[in-house]
Amino acid sequence: MGFRFTNWWGLSVLLVVEIATPRAIAQITVQVHNSARMSPSVLRQGEAEAARILADAGIDVVWVSCPSNPTVVSDCLGFTPNEFSLHIVSDGRTLNDSVFGQAFLGDGGIGKFCDVFFRRIERAWQDSGTDPALLLGAIAAHELGHLLLGSNAHSQVGIMQPVWPRKNLRAIDRGTLLFTREQAARMKARLARRANSALVKPENPGQLFLRLRLLE
Ligand SMILES: [Zn+2]
Repeated sequence: MGFRFTNWWGLSVLLVVEIATPRAIAQITVQVHNSARMSPSVLRQGEAEAARILADAGIDVVWVSCPSNPTVVSDCLGFTPNEFSLHIVSDGRTLNDSVFGQAFLGDGGIGKFCDVFFRRIERAWQDSGTDPALLLGAIAAHELGHLLLGSNAHSQVGIMQPVWPRKNLRAIDRGTLLFTREQAARMKARLARRANSALVKPENPGQLFLRLRLLE
């Protein structure tokens, strides 16, 4: 009987948490520049995975397909307060091979731009078998997480770990590498403040890198 009672208690706690954690209540727009010319289907699947990860944190994503070269004049050059840029580039030429993405933050943790290095994702796929679209989605979500969380975004657990050990690839395959509840609350609070501000600060970005350790 005691065991059964414990089960019911666990179930009721889960239900309360589920009801008390509203899903998507904030929205961002992400302009996507595909300079790596990756397959459109992999890109769409990667966007869907990043959207799923962010939706788990209560954030809806609207994706906007932009010219592969971000400097080409288009509607994608302007930004509303909750609008960001994701640039899929072939390689991070000046960075170590273990770096898979970078975000650019300026003073006060304000930033709009992040990059993902697609050739390295392809190599990780060849080395580990991790689905490239799922890996792209997880890395994009991590880099967007930097832009949404601002300074001190890294954590010891979840998708904002600064270095991903091989076990994270298994979590990516299972779809369980996610933002923490605290990070979700921080992102939504920060987005609400941005939405109320018409001023987008100019960029003077520093860089933050995401590294994967594939040899563990
Ligand atoms: Zn990072």
